[in-house]
Amino acid sequence: MTTSHYIAGHWVEGQGSDCISVNDPALGQPFAELMAASVTQVDQAVAAARNALPAWKNTSASERAAFLRGFAEQLGQRREALVTLQMRNNGKPRHEAEIDLDDAIATFGYYAEQAEQLPSKNRTVPLAAPGFTARTRLEPVGVVGLIVPWNFPLVTSAWKLAPALAAGCTVVLKPSEVTPLIEQAYGQIADALGLPAGVLNIVNGKAETGAALSNHNGLDKLSFTGSNSVGSQVMRSASAQCRPVTLELGGKSAIVVFEDCDVDQAVEWIVAGISWNAGQMCSATSRLLVQDGIADTLLPRLQAALANLRVGNPLTEEVDMGPLTSQAQWLKVASYFATAREEGLQCLAGGHALDREGWFVSPTLYTDVPKDSRLWTEEIFGPVLCARRFTTEEQAIAEANDSRFGLVATVCSADLERAERVADALEVGHVWINSVQAVFVETSWGGTKGSGIGRELGPWGLSAYQSVKHVTRCLG
Ligand code: NAD
Repeated sequence: MTTSHYIAGHWVEGQGSDCISVNDPALGQPFAELMAASVTQVDQAVAAARNALPAWKNTSASERAAFLRGFAEQLGQRREALVTLQMRNNGKPRHEAEIDLDDAIATFGYYAEQAEQLPSKNRTVPLAAPGFTARTRLEPVGVVGLIVPWNFPLVTSAWKLAPALAAGCTVVLKPSEVTPLIEQAYGQIADALGLPAGVLNIVNGKAETGAALSNHNGLDKLSFTGSNSVGSQVMRSASAQCRPVTLELGGKSAIVVFEDCDVDQAVEWIVAGISWNAGQMCSATSRLLVQDGIADTLLPRLQAALANLRVGNPLTEEVDMGPLTSQAQWLKVASYFATAREEGLQCLAGGHALDREGWFVSPTLYTDVPKDSRLWTEEIFGPVLCARRFTTEEQAIAEANDSRFGLVATVCSADLERAERVADALEVGHVWINSVQAVFVETSWGGTKGSGIGRELGPWGLSAYQSVKHVTRCLG
């Protein structure tokens, strides 16, 4: 049993009613367990964040930047432990777990710099009207609740935590019950750095704990990453209290491959876009749109590339793809395999769970999938790729945009003018041209349509935790 809640600068045992099993998905076995935080403990965490706010928001930006640099350094010092824990609990291949850690480190470093630049942004506003001066003050929003999912625990939490602390907010973080041990590192680092008690609080638990936090009237803002169904509930709670919310939700993103592409290169991008993190990415490019002139060459090579992926236990084998992270996700993906069989979809690769211990599925490719198929329209969150052919650029844009989601897209073409034109026409928050899943902390993250509200990363990620105030003075 693990003591895993960090409240007001203390590690405490959970007093909730849920017992959380922490699993190794490659074995389908638990390796730790903990008790969820109770509703009272969520109250205590919010109260601690509220108590810590006046002092924290009045720290200098350079003081906050020093703490953020400390987080980056300490993450680096815990590299091996954090990489191994992600491999064990998420089922991530080693190189992916390393990249996640590096992403989190870069995020804290970047927001340290952003914090240092804050004083220069509190400046005088030139006014056309005579007789007045005005100045801007960027103030922290206040106490923020951060609720995150399990697929990129270190990264998603860093994308919220670093800008929130940089802005001068105090936080209550609720990690996913599927990966509750990973973000404990942030509490341990806060301890090691001497971050003032209550600035960062961590409460673990399932839906009940999340709901206690998102319904809490002591928050000034809630930032949520997760499914659309829970995101709607979080938004309802926020609306009841008229408070701001950032929502990073699901996706069903397109990868558009034009016939002037190098086929082998395109196959590499397509495979990475659906097999990275076993396809458990909001940004998985799970809808392949391939132009007629290249489809007959590309699809057999894609089939072979997916079949050749080494799928296995990242802790004991050299693998390209690990298991799905939870049994629930494994059952969900298996249910889509059943739907595909019922719908009579043409399966070129995979289409089944692996016959071995653990929560493994084979990388899967369905072709000529009808536009109204559930597999074409719904987020599956697994290594399941659906393909359709297109003839013209206009058709590709229309089909890519024909989705209730709008998170990301990839465009592959040797004609860069065309690629840029298509990128401009796609209704999403981020487009990659001739690359896939390349996320940089300086660029934004977030979606249009059903993929969410607001942006993370870059200066936009910091703005999400700031409130703009102007002070206007009459000179007369
Ligand atoms: P989820 O919505 O089930 O859970 C997310 C978090 O919300 C967890 O911490 C969970 O405990 C908590 N929660 C559950 N019920 C709650 C409630 N009623 N009130 C408040 N909190 C509650 O999502 P998941 O299965 O953990 O993650 C997968 C989803 O996350 C996918 O849809 C994926 O696309 C999305 N996602 C989006 C992004 C993005 O940046 N857009 C990134 C990663 C994941």
